[in-house]
Amino acid sequence: MNTLIISTIGSHSALQILYGAKQEGFNTKVYCLRGREELYKRYPVAQEIILLDSYEDLLNLEPANNEIFIPHGTLIATLGKRALDIQIPVFGNKEGMHWEMVRENNLKLLKEANIRTPKSYQPDEIDKLVIVKFPGAKGGLGYFICSSQLEFEQRISEHLSNGLITKEDAKLAQIQEYVVGVTMYPHYFHSVIHERVEMLGIDRRYETNADALGRLSQENYKIDPTYKVVGNQPLIARESLLPEILECGDRLVDAAARLFSPGLLGPFCIEMSITPEEIVAFEFTSRIVAGTTLYTNGSPYSQFLFDENMSMARRIGREIKQAMGQRRLRELLT
Ligand code: AMP
Repeated sequence: MNTLIISTIGSHSALQILYGAKQEGFNTKVYCLRGREELYKRYPVAQEIILLDSYEDLLNLEPANNEIFIPHGTLIATLGKRALDIQIPVFGNKEGMHWEMVRENNLKLLKEANIRTPKSYQPDEIDKLVIVKFPGAKGGLGYFICSSQLEFEQRISEHLSNGLITKEDAKLAQIQEYVVGVTMYPHYFHSVIHERVEMLGIDRRYETNADALGRLSQENYKIDPTYKVVGNQPLIARESLLPEILECGDRLVDAAARLFSPGLLGPFCIEMSITPEEIVAFEFTSRIVAGTTLYTNGSPYSQFLFDENMSMARRIGREIKQAMGQRRLRELLT
């Protein structure tokens, strides 16, 4: 029996992470904000529940030599760059999280991997439908769509006067070609032990209110889209798209190794939109994404690869176990 503890923060994909770790024989621990522990009592996947007054407390915990922390979106969303100061050994490359957080770096890595990203515009270059995004906007609050410089300036001053954005946000506004496609989020795993990139599942996000706007005639109502993720839906890709989806994962891993060696380790995701012509990527994430919880019992793709119920969390546990067997655990942790 393994005495290593797998831990994470209580939110995002914690239920799956801890359940998968248990399946692989690890002990489990969840760090929970006081008042949020009820969920982890009702679904008993954590052997230990540690209550925190704030996520900052996590940064002051002394590293234990028998604990591995699995980072997820909440760590990055709540602590930002301070997340990198966590003392507990983290599964994956923290440097990848740093590249994920900084928007320009995020796009730089996708470009280095030769993956098409949306074209960027200056205000005076706007000549087609664009989406205007602001830094750190959670769920895309304040994002808007426009198609001319005049409209852009009008919307920016409206947003400033109703306090939706600050002058600083306005300066950092990112103007991107609006990609008309369907979104797809493939869940990849870079295995250092098996020296390969696996694609274990795909989801699409269910975002409010963007996914509700199609129910209204936009001629009658002008409502800005927001992109707060409230859930995830399973998806399989048309089989002829799979080679390209797999190649994108391979190329991202190779590009990351060139830019911040040893690059991406373990789970990562590419946020894609598929247009009738091509694949365009908005962003990559360097850690487990919440949509993987759809496949706690495995997805069609993980079934083809492993012929057993292999969730992303269980895959992480399996990699850790195999690395321990080969005395290579250090290669997976930062
Ligand atoms: P982001 O804040 O960049 O993660 O974007 C949030 C959401 O906005 C994405 O999940 C997409 O649904 C949508 N989105 C972002 N960039 C674009 C784009 N260039 N074209 C169309 N939709 C976009």
